Amino acid sequence: LPRIVVAGNGQLGQMLQQAGAPIQLEVMPVDPNADVQLELRADDVITVEIEHWSDSVSGLQLKQHPNFRNKVALHMVIDRQRQKSLLDRLQVPTSPWLSLEGDDLQAQLESVGERVIVKRRRGGYDGRGQWRWQKGNQPEAEWAGECIAEAMIPFSHEVSLVGARNAAGEKVFYPLTCNWHQDGILRASIAGLPIPAEQQRDAEAWLGRIMDDEGYIGVMAMECFVVDGKLLVNELAPRVHNSGHWTQEGASTSQFELHLRALAGLPLITPEVSGVSVMYNLLGRNWKPEWLSVQGAHVHWYGKEIRPGRKVGHVNICRPDVPTLAESLQALGAQLDEEDSVVAEWALAQLA
Ligand code: ATP
Ligand code: MG
Ligand code: MG
Repeated sequence: LPRIVVAGNGQLGQMLQQAGAPIQLEVMPVDPNADVQLELRADDVITVEIEHWSDSVSGLQLKQHPNFRNKVALHMVIDRQRQKSLLDRLQVPTSPWLSLEGDDLQAQLESVGERVIVKRRRGGYDGRGQWRWQKGNQPEAEWAGECIAEAMIPFSHEVSLVGARNAAGEKVFYPLTCNWHQDGILRASIAGLPIPAEQQRDAEAWLGRIMDDEGYIGVMAMECFVVDGKLLVNELAPRVHNSGHWTQEGASTSQFELHLRALAGLPLITPEVSGVSVMYNLLGRNWKPEWLSVQGAHVHWYGKEIRPGRKVGHVNICRPDVPTLAESLQALGAQLDEEDSVVAEWALAQLA
């Protein structure tokens, strides 16, 4: 089996490494921004957990390795303008948008809608590099050439699809996950509740089309808005994704293992999901041993320095059915601070 080298050594790289261990697959996360010579082997397979890094010594070495996977897809996805054009070309529905250029930004913004969200083309995550604009407001000159503008979508909720494709073009998908974002950052996800068949079918067809078009190998995630019961794609992530973390204990094969299987040429199987799961992000929180008293709760702590709002871990709560999950959420809710009890309340409302 090849060794899998991950560009990026944050929590996603760490969890890929953990998933590789039981199947004796060596996974080596590295910092692509470091100016050190990496000892890469010719048969290593290179994958990513982040999308942007500098032209450092390590960074260039990774990019130039002959087994650097998904170069084309990364090129398309790391720039929102190219990503939105890809969606348009493949006839995947997405929010109306344009690329802000030159002057008279006001007129360009107004042509998109009365309420607009301006997003930096590159480098944004967790809602950073985004501005809300509405008719009558003054646009910022710096948006020209740097940003896209898209219509604010009055969605009922957000969902995401995580899927994997191997070199032979076989594809497998998880059920759609329902996601709750606050201030652009994912607070919690819930998976395993009934999903309208048409939404699942559309989402799989679109993500499948995208992965085929890019000759993609590994896990890709697609975030969507739900509007009047129909899906509209928000954005793509060419890697394992936060909204797929519940699969660690909530599915027969996790997104991390599926990604590794696809990259290493191991069998891909359709992951089975029998119960209901909630994934709850720990944002700048301390790790509390009491969480482990909750039935079905699994803590994943990243070992990072705690800073306000920073993702430092997550808790997956996986139970066989809605009533038992509700019990666990109530038990967890009783132990959470005020700021986090809203998460348990949100999840309970989804179950109702
Ligand atoms: P991520 O951490 O998922 O990569 P990001 O910084 O790339 O986030 P987006 O996913 O584009 O940002 O937006 C973050 C959140 O902001 C979305 O999940 C959604 O809640 C809200 N949002 C983004 N675009 C729109 C839109 N066009 N209409 C309404 N809400 C939006
Ligand atoms: Mg994003
Ligand atoms: Mg997003």
